Amino acid sequence: MEKEKKPRACWKCGCKEIKIEDCGYSSFNVGWAECTGCGYKVKLGCCGCFPHDEIVNYWNSSKQRLKKSLGEAKKEAARIKAELAEGASDGG
Ligand SMILES: [Zn+2]
Repeated sequence: MEKEKKPRACWKCGCKEIKIEDCGYSSFNVGWAECTGCGYKVKLGCCGCFPHDEIVNYWNSSKQRLKKSLGEAKKEAARIKAELAEGASDGG
């Protein structure tokens, strides 16, 4: 029997009971992981079939992924600010 990958404890509340729904259990073709402690949920997509391990990996990296998104959003915000500042000098 293959060893199932275990999800990490929730980074929001520390709860270790993480519910994994993969295509084997769900009637919908979605994969997601949900913390039973605080209800924090990550979803892989609205279509397609995701294996258990992939969902666990996604759950385990959810914090890092959010941090990365924040970094990218900050860069984008800086770019937009700079663009707006250029416009201001036109007397707009
Ligand atoms: Zn939680």
